Amino acid sequence: MKCPICERPSHFYARHPEADLYRCQDCGHRFSVLSAQDHAEHYERDYFERTHRNWFSNPNYALFARIAKLAVEDPGVASLIDVGCGRGAFLRYLKGWRQKQLALTGIDLWANLPEEGIEYVVGDVIATSLNRSYDVVVSLAVIEHVADIHTFADRLHGLCRPSGRVVVMTLNDNSILYGVARALRCLGIMLPFNRLYSRHHLHHFTRRSLALLLEHHGFVVETTLLHDAPLAAIDIPAPFSMAATALRLAVSALFATGRLTGRTYLQTVVCRRAGSHQMFRDARKDDGIGMVPLMRCRNEAEILQMNTSL
Ligand SMILES: [Zn+2]
Repeated sequence: MKCPICERPSHFYARHPEADLYRCQDCGHRFSVLSAQDHAEHYERDYFERTHRNWFSNPNYALFARIAKLAVEDPGVASLIDVGCGRGAFLRYLKGWRQKQLALTGIDLWANLPEEGIEYVVGDVIATSLNRSYDVVVSLAVIEHVADIHTFADRLHGLCRPSGRVVVMTLNDNSILYGVARALRCLGIMLPFNRLYSRHHLHHFTRRSLALLLEHHGFVVETTLLHDAPLAAIDIPAPFSMAATALRLAVSALFATGRLTGRTYLQTVVCRRAGSHQMFRDARKDDGIGMVPLMRCRNEAEILQMNTSL
């Protein structure tokens, strides 16, 4: 099977109760092929209010502040869309941020209540016509749920004005947390692996595979933020409070180790839309074997330095 990112060969990695997992030999991307009887996650009211209540009740304000500083502060920025805005936490954070006048739009399958200063659009971002472009396009914890990631990345490009910025946050398959979950699986402890690779995450991005995807679709990566989610946002699957406390401590220790080693649970890429998307498409066609090697590798020290505050 071909890697959906770089089109080079991938091999079967593991069987999950809900999916078969494959891993690319080149970019390290893991992806899930759902079992025939499984359906992709439905994003209805229950998803926000029950299934992932902790996530949506505990927004990552440290990350919001960092994104605002990197992508919104520029005086030329006047409009922003949050693709997959959920309950609108990031848009609400930006309302009145440093007295900046911003036209704020959020699109999601979830219908938010009308709110002054924010335009909410209900629908699938790929199928919904917006007929506009934005100075900044943000998508937080969405891309790992999307089956057709190339169409999604094209859509982000189409929504972004030339030289505008796109910010994408997703999981980091290189993280200590994911690595420990895979190691525990080899020892027969399945719970962390089964949760992290559950069917609602179809793509498990490495730092390299995310940068490759975005650069292939006409973006120039400026910064990669390496960070975690607030601990309160993480679902701890333990029926007793003592077990939950022990698990929370373990996750906290893995997060700290990830920050020290630059292998955090989450990653956020800030990139700029390059001049000509067509140039990238043509280059890919000419390459013959798939992805053009467009990624510019930053050294670890540089990236760690950029992320000390998260
Ligand atoms: Zn690949």
